[in-house]
Amino acid sequence: MRLCYLVGYPVEHSMSPAMHNAAFNALGIDAEYRLAPMEPGRLGDFIETLREPNVMGASVTIPHKEEVMKLLDQVDGTARAIGAVNTVVHTDDALKGYNTDATGGVKALTEAYGGLKGSDVTILGAGGASRAITYQVSRVECRVTVLNRSLDRARRLVEDVRPTAPAELSYGALDQLPAIIGDTDVLINTTPVGMSPNTSDSPVPAGLLHGGLFVYDVIYNPVKTRLLRDAEAKGARVLSGVNMLVYQGAEAFKMWTGVEPPIDLMQRIVEDQLGGGPL
Ligand code: NAP
Repeated sequence: MRLCYLVGYPVEHSMSPAMHNAAFNALGIDAEYRLAPMEPGRLGDFIETLREPNVMGASVTIPHKEEVMKLLDQVDGTARAIGAVNTVVHTDDALKGYNTDATGGVKALTEAYGGLKGSDVTILGAGGASRAITYQVSRVECRVTVLNRSLDRARRLVEDVRPTAPAELSYGALDQLPAIIGDTDVLINTTPVGMSPNTSDSPVPAGLLHGGLFVYDVIYNPVKTRLLRDAEAKGARVLSGVNMLVYQGAEAFKMWTGVEPPIDLMQRIVEDQLGGGPL
């Protein structure tokens, strides 16, 4: 049997095993996706497990997405630019790292919204999810503003992405949102504000939202956050983080197996686990 792992800490509540194992079963692939809870400091030893011949690779999550880069044989250019790896692929003689949060997260966005060229994109937050989304959104000619609670973190993110980006990038503090939301086409929340169990919180006062927005919340639990509910009430189009979760996993699955994954099935499994309907 071939194996894949989810390496992180904690990982017990992850939906990835159900999603990937359902996909392996549906395609008749003799493989299993297993949890590998690794406290900080234990990653180095575990990485050697990934070199065993029957291991296809791993997903990497908090707190190891940055540290793992030093332990791999190769890191692809996107992951290096973002500064984080969430997928490791084991080939015959090497472990190579990728960032499918970036590609999967923006694939979900462009599928629902359309091409971003010429759009005004405002991104709330400057942490790990924001680094991935900001980098990938900035691959086309659009205007991207990163607003964050800590201004310095937003500045560092924009300065990292700007040199290679076709997009025009700027940054600011969260209190600048009222001044720019009127011109914003796509508003992306990458902060955890509104995530379960704090489901009545929103990073944006409802009064600022308007019907011309497309609002993308990368939170997937709950499926429909307070921000998305408020935005819908104003007539805005919305997208939850479920699709990002599924697409980042689906891209990893394809890299490990070389086979096109059953995305609809993976999405259904995640939605069932979250107890929410499709969005
Ligand atoms: P992170 O690296 O810890 O970054 C969190 C960001 O949110 C930081 O910029 C932080 O600002 C900001 N923030 C935190 N609490 C805030 C508050 N109360 N008010 C305003 N800003 C606040 O976290 P992450 O890994 O990026 O994850 C963020 C969210 O994305 C989580 O909900 C996670 O579940 C979700 N996510 C979803 C997917 C998916 O597949 N859908 C993938 C990855 C992450 P400071 O810099 O000022 O601290």
